[in-house]
Amino acid sequence: MLKQLLNECRFTLTIHTAGPVLIKSGHPTVSGPDMTPVRTYRNGNAEVYLPGSSLKGVFRSHIEKVIRTLKDEVVCNPFVKTNPNSENDQLVCPNYADVSCGDKFEVRRKEQLEVSQVQWRRYPKKEDLSNEAVYLDSCPACRLFGSTSFIGRVAISDAYLAEGSQQKVEQRDGVGIDRLTGGAASGAKFDLKVVSSGVDFEADIYLRNFEVWQLGILMLIVSDLEEGLIRIGSGRSRGLGSVKATISEVSVNYLGAVNGRSDNEVWGLGKLLGDGSYGTDTDDEVTVEQAPITETRGFRKITTFSEESLKCLKQNSIERFVSKIQSWEMPETMQFEYMEFRRDGGTNG
Ligand SMILES: [Zn+2]
Repeated sequence: MLKQLLNECRFTLTIHTAGPVLIKSGHPTVSGPDMTPVRTYRNGNAEVYLPGSSLKGVFRSHIEKVIRTLKDEVVCNPFVKTNPNSENDQLVCPNYADVSCGDKFEVRRKEQLEVSQVQWRRYPKKEDLSNEAVYLDSCPACRLFGSTSFIGRVAISDAYLAEGSQQKVEQRDGVGIDRLTGGAASGAKFDLKVVSSGVDFEADIYLRNFEVWQLGILMLIVSDLEEGLIRIGSGRSRGLGSVKATISEVSVNYLGAVNGRSDNEVWGLGKLLGDGSYGTDTDDEVTVEQAPITETRGFRKITTFSEESLKCLKQNSIERFVSKIQSWEMPETMQFEYMEFRRDGGTNG
């Protein structure tokens, strides 16, 4: 991605368990199936924690649903792979929804041209994909969370026990399901260890070189977590994973000289670049009615949003996200591929 760092955003998310939460360790144990919470050694103790990768996965799938609701066929399906040999020609999908962005770029890199005897004309040579081309052609979810071709813009740390919060773990009875009858299998009762309700965790969220609508996605996740609308971990359909989260402040930093920005304006990557590169918008900014607290530290201009200014930041950046998705255009290259395919496909196959 960009070699310079133009803007960044940081905040700490406090996650409060509102019911039992289980994030499985992923390690098989002697005592039975893997039904114990993940732990790590911290301050000399084995402490439960919420892995950042799990949180990121939950947040991403939540946002994918929101984006699909706002506009159909804009976000990719990260689990679908292209298969150039298949009958249904997934490789030449006309929209993101049919295939993962990461895999789409893999194919473009690998020079796989033949698709059911149809010549792929758009990329006759192995394509040397620039970072800009990958970013431009990635769906909104991959632009923020990343794909196998792009590292993404957001980093979510593991969530450790908050200062002063006690570790509370409880045992629950899990019941194995008989695969034949669908009922409870005899003797298949197993121990389920979960993190109890009333435990606080803290995760650090870091966003860099962001467009304002991407900040809007994070603010929407925060809002939905505050409302208790996002469950985390395993057994969500069985009532586990209920959490509520809060943030107290968000800091948005600009690096180097930014000319012409007033204190109540938040500038995204598009406005800072100013040339529409990377598929960004030159009007990538929002104005907040209540200005944040501003200070200069070294070559960083730091703006801190809390209370009223944070409310404005949330509301306005979420609005920006909604309008960005509703007006999201399929990149020209994708349209071109599709036209080529239609023409060839009509004559050959
Ligand atoms: Zn994608």
